[in-house]
Amino acid sequence: MSLTFSPSRAIIELGYSCNLKCQNCGLWKKDYRKLRGEEKGDLTLRDLKRIQSELSELGIKRLSYIGGEPFLHKNILELAEHALGLGLYTAAVTNGSAFDEKKIEEIVCKNLFKAIVFSIDGPANVHDFIRGKKGAFEKAVWAAKFFRNIKNKSKKRFPKIYVYCTVSKLNYKYMYDTFKIASSLNANKLRFQEASALSKADLNETAALLGLPKAGWHAYINENRLNKEQREIAAKTVRRIKSCGFSMKVEAEASLEGRKNNVCHFAGRDMVITPCGKLLICPMLTSLEAGDLKKESLKEILASKSEAAASLAQRAQNGELPICAKCCVEKINI
Ligand code: SF4
Ligand code: SF4
Repeated sequence: MSLTFSPSRAIIELGYSCNLKCQNCGLWKKDYRKLRGEEKGDLTLRDLKRIQSELSELGIKRLSYIGGEPFLHKNILELAEHALGLGLYTAAVTNGSAFDEKKIEEIVCKNLFKAIVFSIDGPANVHDFIRGKKGAFEKAVWAAKFFRNIKNKSKKRFPKIYVYCTVSKLNYKYMYDTFKIASSLNANKLRFQEASALSKADLNETAALLGLPKAGWHAYINENRLNKEQREIAAKTVRRIKSCGFSMKVEAEASLEGRKNNVCHFAGRDMVITPCGKLLICPMLTSLEAGDLKKESLKEILASKSEAAASLAQRAQNGELPICAKCCVEKINI
C-alpha cells in the first residue's frame, strides 16, 4: 500500500536567536545552527513569502512561527500580514519578552494572528529560574495583559491567548499556581506538556532504527524529566485543575493524566521549515531531512518524499521510536 504525506500545518522556525536561557532547552548552549547543519544563509523575506504562497496553493492553511524567539525576527509582522492576505491561519509561540505596545497594537488591529502561545513555567521566581532571566515572567505577563486590554478596547476576538506550561522536575509542584496565573490572564486555553528530556541512548537507538547517523550533541538532552512519583503528583494536580469547572479550556499531555504517552500527533500532520529552508518531518530528528526549499518547491518535496515521511509518521504513531516517549512535541491530538 502506498503511503502519503500530506501535512495540514507548517511550522516555520524564524531563526535561532533568543533572549532567554531556558534550562530545558539547549538552543542557546551551543551553536544550534551547527546542530541543524546550517552553515548556509537563512531564507530571505522573499523566499519565506514564496513558501507561504505555496502553502496556500497546496491548501495547507495552518501556519505557526517559532524560534528561538520568533518576535525577535524583524519581518515577523510583515510575514504574518502576507499570510493573512493568503487566507492562512497563523499562530506564534513566544516566551513573551520581546513585545512592546506598538507591536501588540499592530498585531491586534490588523488581526495578524489567530493565536499567540505564551510559555509560562510557573510563578515569577520559578519561571525566571527556569528561563534563566530575572524579569522574564513580568514581561510575559505584561504582554499577555496588554493583548487582552487592546483586544477589549478594539473589540477584537483575536489573537486568542494560550498559555503552555512545560512541566519538568523543576516546576511540577507549581502547576496549580500556573493555572491561577493563566486564569488571571483570561487565557483562552492552558496546556500542560512534559518537557523534552532525551538521553543519548534514546537518540542513538532511534537513529539505528531509522538508519540515521549516530546522534551527537542535541538541544534536548537533559535530566529534568519527571520520575514516576513526580508524574503522579502532576497527574493529581491536573485532575484537581480540571475539576474546578473553570471556563478556560485545560489540556494535558497523556502522561500527565496517567496514560501512556508514546504516540506522536505531529509527524505526518505537521512539517518544520528551518531558517535555512530545510524541510523536516520531525523537529527532533534533525538529520532526517525531507528536502531543501532553497532548491526545490514544496510541492516537489512533498511529492518525492511522501512515502519516506509517511513511513516515519506511521512508526512514530505506532510508538516504535524510543525518542518519542520523551519528546514534548504535540502529544495532544488537537
Ligand atoms: S525554550 Fe524558547 S525561550 Fe527558552 S531558550 Fe529555548 S528558544 Fe529561547
Ligand atoms: S514524538 Fe517522535 S516523531 Fe513525534 S515529533 Fe517527537 S520525536 Fe518526532
